[in-house]
Amino acid sequence: MRTQRQVVDYSLQKRAVLRELLAGRIGTYDVCDASPYLKNAAHFHGEPTDHRCPICRSENLIHVHYIYGDELKQSAGQARTRAELPVLAMTLREFQVFVVEVCPGCDWNHLVEQFLLGRDGLAGEAADATGVAVADGSTPRRRREAQR
Ligand SMILES: [Zn+2]
Repeated sequence: MRTQRQVVDYSLQKRAVLRELLAGRIGTYDVCDASPYLKNAAHFHGEPTDHRCPICRSENLIHVHYIYGDELKQSAGQARTRAELPVLAMTLREFQVFVVEVCPGCDWNHLVEQFLLGRDGLAGEAADATGVAVADGSTPRRRREAQR
């Protein structure tokens, strides 16, 4: 997606969990614990993938996109279909997306990645294209750093 930025990839953490599982240090019961809410979100808003579940290997994983941010107000924390995200990204300045993979068969679930979307991501792009929007582009970045 065009305004996607500050991507955090959780595949290393996922591999670590799978290693723990293989080694028998944790059980499938510990990792196949998708809540009814998450399973509902996967059913109604999920994005099917071609990836087999690493635990049961009988179902394909579903990606659920959760959105967070002050601008979302009461919608914060809700699941959205992937198709809805680019529309939101053009409407809002900035919001956080968490992608969770879920197996509809065995309830395995794990965070895949998180990233920011929103119009603020276009500021840098505009600066590159025209060379005049540099001052605008630096403002949201400074604001984010101040929040940390
Ligand atoms: Zn599974």
